[in-house]
Amino acid sequence: MRVLALKRDHYCCAQCQRNGRPFEPANTVHHIISREDAPELALELSNLESVCAACHNKLHPGKAFRRMKLPDRKPAQTVRVIRM
Ligand SMILES: [Zn+2]
Ligand SMILES: [Zn+2]
Repeated sequence: MRVLALKRDHYCCAQCQRNGRPFEPANTVHHIISREDAPELALELSNLESVCAACHNKLHPGKAFRRMKLPDRKPAQTVRVIRM
């Protein structure tokens, strides 16, 4: 699957192409929508993007940061009582 995405993008980094460097070699396949968010898209070619390692690191700024971005699960029963 990785190879299919790389071939489609001619082994060039899609992120670099957007930044005006069309021939940066890609060696990584990035999931545009992460596998956790959409497991059914994990093998979807349209959800894959060939990127170079440098760009991929920018797309994933560390796992700790990722974890912080997850919304805190607040108890749903927090009901505000409004006095009339
Ligand atoms: Zn790149
Ligand atoms: Zn990725």
